[in-house]
Amino acid sequence: MKKITILGSTGSVGISVLSVIKKNPFLFKVIALVANKNFLIMIKQCQQFNPDWVAMKDEKSAKILRKKIKKKNIKTQVLSGTKAICELASLKENDQVVSAIVGTAGLLPTLSAIYAGKVILLANKESLITCGDIFMKAVISNNAKILPIDSEHNAIFQSLPKSVQKNLGTSRLSENGIKSIILTASGGPFYGLKKKFLSSVTPFQTCSHPNWSMGKKVSVDSATMMNKGLEYAEARWLFNASPSEIEIIIHPQSIVHSMVQYIDGTTLAHLSIPDMKIAISYAMSWPNRINSGANSLNFKKMNNLTFSEPSFIEFPCLKLAIDAFSEGQAAMTVLNAANEVAVSAFLKLKISFNDIFKINSDTLISSSFLEPTSVEDVLEIDKRTRIIANKKIASLMISN
Ligand code: NDP
Repeated sequence: MKKITILGSTGSVGISVLSVIKKNPFLFKVIALVANKNFLIMIKQCQQFNPDWVAMKDEKSAKILRKKIKKKNIKTQVLSGTKAICELASLKENDQVVSAIVGTAGLLPTLSAIYAGKVILLANKESLITCGDIFMKAVISNNAKILPIDSEHNAIFQSLPKSVQKNLGTSRLSENGIKSIILTASGGPFYGLKKKFLSSVTPFQTCSHPNWSMGKKVSVDSATMMNKGLEYAEARWLFNASPSEIEIIIHPQSIVHSMVQYIDGTTLAHLSIPDMKIAISYAMSWPNRINSGANSLNFKKMNNLTFSEPSFIEFPCLKLAIDAFSEGQAAMTVLNAANEVAVSAFLKLKISFNDIFKINSDTLISSSFLEPTSVEDVLEIDKRTRIIANKKIASLMISN
């Protein structure tokens, strides 16, 4: 039985992980669960999975949870705060740690699991976007392992030879018969529309993703294709890939989740319905497979699968991310923070859809930071960037 800790258990990824565990109760034992404030979902998860430990980031929520747990006679110990979360991420008993806290709050707990040499099932995007260099070096020196559960990276992982899977981040793709990895992107809800039509699109239209059911931030990122730019950065670190070894292709049906091309002309692709449980269950059971609870594709009912090259004119945020990656970790951290601020302003109707690129680009131009060497450096760059980006939004609102 694998012992598992879930950081971010009350979120969309965390809930999917628990659903896979529910399908396979004899294969996994939940050791600890972590969330921020959502004690209502957490109490239900404690009743159902009986973890030894829970940590809530928010002390008030931890207090309420403690009372409720006592009333229901559940044996789970409730802790609070970042230090406690990091301790649970590095528990001796953990065989696997799911990193699914959203945003930069996930950085320190993930690093704590890396330092403890754990197998980390990685969903938290910021870990590699902002700290790729720092984290991948720490993974190697602490004999930890990262298994991706983001669907595209998991699809690539599934299509790689075992030799590369075992030495992720250090194997050279070219020495293992691999020509390139191909990240697929849906192109989002506005794919094919002219830029001038996008100036008036609403958050509701932007968040209506054609295939995946996702949170608002990632839905907007999908529409600007910033999401693919951020995934490009993650893939560069995770697969130790050079710029010429990564391609991005638009595939609006979201059936092929990504591919690996080999030097003999073979392409291995991962196809499935869009359901996170498939990627999650593969990482949980690697190198084997288990029942994820997801349905299989029905090829008799499938329509055409189409592929095309993304245009940097149509998707300028994609180019911005690729360029920022080549500048370094400071630039990626700036772009990631600026984009979070800009997307949030768009969702609050403060700026237009097209302004997201402008805020991101202007913030990158105005920022100049030394390359970070620690998570603390990254968090400082993140904090200072948010101030710059918010000022840019304020002046844009005045000028509009
Ligand atoms: P959600 O917003 O649904 O859930 C986030 C989780 O993190 C919740 O459990 C939340 O707790 C917890 N959390 C938030 N802030 C803190 C904090 N400061 N300390 C501790 N816990 C905190 O996010 P998702 O599950 O959608 O995504 C999680 C991560 O995975 C993100 O980085 C996302 O980009 C990535 N990802 C998501 C995919 C998806 O399909 N959803 C696909 C691939 C990657 P609470 O509920 O109490 O707020």
